[in-house]
Amino acid sequence: MAAFKCPHCSEETISLKDKYRLGWWATVNCKQCGGRVAAFPWVLMMMTMLYVWNVLWWVGLVNFEHSYHYLGYLALCWVLLDLVNIYFIPLCRLKKKTPR
Ligand SMILES: [Zn+2]
Repeated sequence: MAAFKCPHCSEETISLKDKYRLGWWATVNCKQCGGRVAAFPWVLMMMTMLYVWNVLWWVGLVNFEHSYHYLGYLALCWVLLDLVNIYFIPLCRLKKKTPR
């Protein structure tokens, strides 16, 4: 199974599932070093805008042209965006939560 490098310790400890969750604004802790990891926020914000645009665009076309095959394009674009999300969004380090 594919794994992604932790930006703290450079070990491949981030699972595919965790990488996908990072694309949805989650944070995960590295299993090796315990460091908190997140996706790069500016890139992630653009990705979120693309997801929103994707849904609005194709759903809008369904309404204008009454043709439901556009929903298929929506699903296809969604999968493509997911692939970009998983494989092209860089990870960044977060500071450990300091106990209060
Ligand atoms: Zn690590």
